[in-house]
Amino acid sequence: MSDPLDERDTAGDPLALVARAAQPYLDGLPDRRVHDRAKDALLDELDGPLPAKGDGAVAAVERLLRIGTEAATHSSGPRFFHFVVGGSTPAAMAGDWATSLLDQASGLWAASPLASRAETVVLRWLKELFGLPASFGGVLTPSATLAHVTGLACARHWWAGRHGVDVTSRGLAGLPVMPVFSSGLVHVSTRKALQILGCGRDTLTTFARDEAGRVDLAAMDEALARVEGRAVIVANLGEVTTGDSDPIDALADLAERHGAWLHVDGAFGLFSALSPRTAHLARGVERADSVTADGHKWMNVPYESGFSFVRDPMSLSRAFGTWGAAYLPDADDERISYNMLGPESSRRARALPIWATLRAYGRDGYRAMVERHLDVVEHLGGLVEAAPDLELLAPVQLCIACFRYRPDGVPEEHLDELNARLGEALLADGRVYAGTSTYRGMTVFRPAPVNWRTTEADVELLVTVLRELGAALAP
Ligand SMILES: *Cc1c(COP(=O)(O)O)cnc(C)c1O
Repeated sequence: MSDPLDERDTAGDPLALVARAAQPYLDGLPDRRVHDRAKDALLDELDGPLPAKGDGAVAAVERLLRIGTEAATHSSGPRFFHFVVGGSTPAAMAGDWATSLLDQASGLWAASPLASRAETVVLRWLKELFGLPASFGGVLTPSATLAHVTGLACARHWWAGRHGVDVTSRGLAGLPVMPVFSSGLVHVSTRKALQILGCGRDTLTTFARDEAGRVDLAAMDEALARVEGRAVIVANLGEVTTGDSDPIDALADLAERHGAWLHVDGAFGLFSALSPRTAHLARGVERADSVTADGHKWMNVPYESGFSFVRDPMSLSRAFGTWGAAYLPDADDERISYNMLGPESSRRARALPIWATLRAYGRDGYRAMVERHLDVVEHLGGLVEAAPDLELLAPVQLCIACFRYRPDGVPEEHLDELNARLGEALLADGRVYAGTSTYRGMTVFRPAPVNWRTTEADVELLVTVLRELGAALAP
């Protein structure tokens, strides 16, 4: 077999294989190890020289499924608490398959009115879900990092404009460094976006009043005055080590007073807006100039899914439109070419899985899921506080509990090393995944349960496994 044309009448066969593998794989997820290192040996079977004569689709996909269903990290199951990783709701996953089936060229309305209209609809639904003004512009991106690139490119265009330069046409040459101010809660992806945009990742200044990185508003206020407001403020809604957030409203006040640009990183934290229990954290986001969020984290949409929203819809086309043709889609315009509004040109119809999951579960379903996670992580916090050998290090916030293993008799100076070794042992064990990080100079665990399948039993197992492995390690 060498030519795909020979398979035109059996093109559905390899898809049927995937569909047949799906139910047993999904049914097995709750019971299997998150990762089984013994299965890594299978990865060799992916390897080998480029075939001259191919295997044909059925054999190739059979092989991929055989290796994949075993050797994958089963992070879409209920016990992957490392980083901030969601799973994929049944509707979102099927929507993603449909996206591949339909394979739309989704940058241009002329190539796919379906993809364009779906993107317009889901952006409207998402604004409503997050309490953002309907007048905001937006575009779907592959990730929050690319949503930062999108929002901060708009900020850069605005900032250069205040220096009399059209950065889209002229670039940054001759301009001073763009001041970007944030708190100690800032995520590395913000620096990466600044690096990509040619602004430099180390030009960001943090204003922190304590070791936890909480914002020093007075110092930022002074710095803003020094640059006459020609600066970008990055507010962080949901930080990855403790779930802490900046006071968005206070930063919006600063931005307003100085005429600065306010960018909000709500990668997962924007989902706080879905529950009255946490909505106060998101207060002020509606005053931002640009806002970033992720679909592939707390929304449980498959990778790659991110959202960028901007107060002035025109700013997207100024930063990304072609050759000076600033393009303002009208509120009822159905003919939007989204490649004019973001960094990508050709792109997949990433609106479809979002559409499917919002259609399937609605606002109430998402609120229920977010509130279940709030309960699950509070439960985890309670278990940590009750365990004599675990120490909760920060109040439980949003979807994160930050703690460390601290058995009696281990001196403080040995705790970092012990927790780092425990982190390694936990990943090698594979029953439950959680990673270590650094908080106020300490090595800590900071599990973030945001998978739609996760329940209290899953975080109970995390505590059991950590204490069991810890007891085996401690002197
Ligand atoms: C994950 C994350 C990002 C980056 O998101 P990607 O989708 O991985 O690019 C940015 N900010 C915060 C707070 C995050 O948790």
